[in-house]
Amino acid sequence: MSSIKKIRGFQDIYGEEARKYRFVADTARKIFDRYNFQEIILPYVEDVSLFARSVGEETDIVQKEMYVFEDRGGRTVALRPEGTASAVRAYIEEKLYAKGGYTKLFYEGAMFRYERPQAGRYRQFHQIGAEVFGVDTPLSDAELIKMVKDILDELGIQIRLEINTLGDFESRKVYIKKLKEYLAEIKDSLCEDCRKRMERNPLRVLDCKVEGCRKATENAPQLIDFLPEEKVERFEKVKEYLKALEIQYTVNPRLVRGLDYYTDTVFEFITDKIGAQGTVAAGGRYDRLVEQLGGPPTPALGFAAGVERLMMLIETLPEKQPLIAVIPVVPEFNIEGLKTADILRKRGIKTELIMKEGSLKSKMKLANKIQSDFVVFVSEKPELKDMETGEQELFENIEDLRDVVEKKLSGD
Ligand code: ATP
Ligand code: MG
Repeated sequence: MSSIKKIRGFQDIYGEEARKYRFVADTARKIFDRYNFQEIILPYVEDVSLFARSVGEETDIVQKEMYVFEDRGGRTVALRPEGTASAVRAYIEEKLYAKGGYTKLFYEGAMFRYERPQAGRYRQFHQIGAEVFGVDTPLSDAELIKMVKDILDELGIQIRLEINTLGDFESRKVYIKKLKEYLAEIKDSLCEDCRKRMERNPLRVLDCKVEGCRKATENAPQLIDFLPEEKVERFEKVKEYLKALEIQYTVNPRLVRGLDYYTDTVFEFITDKIGAQGTVAAGGRYDRLVEQLGGPPTPALGFAAGVERLMMLIETLPEKQPLIAVIPVVPEFNIEGLKTADILRKRGIKTELIMKEGSLKSKMKLANKIQSDFVVFVSEKPELKDMETGEQELFENIEDLRDVVEKKLSGD
């Protein structure tokens, strides 16, 4: 019988890759905590209209990337393609605004998008992300970008930061009208996708990776020229703060982000090291979204980073905890073996009890195979072997041995 395979675009993450995943997720969690963000664990399934209303009816995500299905109760639901919409829904539904001040949330978990799978692009992928509700200052923009930078630094990842401002919806509307006129003139030099985007999502044309489109839009009108003075000044403040924090950035006027809800500052951390899927973390402000989804007017901002893309950039993982193997020399010492392993584990020592029957030699072979750093032979008296140096030491009892093991494992 043929075996069942995983579905295209989905992955099993195991071994070193799983360790990388954990390192990324745990590191992010540590930094989120340092910035006093609280975790929110959001549903994987939402009413489909949540995404149409927030991410945007005309975006690629909603148009062609969402997993939508009818559940057995006849509801049309979607597997979440991103986290912000759910976080905003929860913020409104759970009345998180009621306690006043501002609300800082982080999340971690799987997202689903029906895209063409390739390196760094999957149909189930994972994000870490954070959202801040209830504050509109340039300080909050700089603080969020700094937090993402801290996560990257802690992971040992060095990538460039691009920022831009999208201003407010009103001036953007005026700009989009001008941009459409411009695009209509150069229509023939645009790729097929962009000719479609032109009408529905013209900003996205500026973001197109196709060389011809880049050239053709080189002299396109720029959004910044359409923004009111206060918005330009606001952006200047954000830049000033980033400079003060010694965060390097470049302003990229083409950076428009794929989703409709962004306003003012947007940013991306980008690398050329992992091929075309170079955007690793992205975010920005979305001051109108909470209101748009039926909540009280609430300025907000957030970011999300792709865990798999971060994993691709990790060069060194933290060292593994040393492993100790416990070998009952003969079956008569099995119970003593169980107890020895128990004592070591209670002390927080990573311990593998060799559970196979057989010759001592075969048990040693197994201990080698699992890359034990130490072996304890359980017999009349316990004996410790350092697998690196080959040194062996006999102990009176397990208590003595335990102390020595602890010392050795702590690197003394
Ligand atoms: P891209 O331009 O690569 O499609 P995006 O703008 O659609 O990215 P966002 O919606 O901003 O991405 O999601 C934030 C991050 O999530 C991305 O920067 C990326 O690291 C990650 N990401 C997005 N889509 C995928 C995917 N299909 N597979 C793996 N990671 C992804
Ligand atoms: Mg995308």
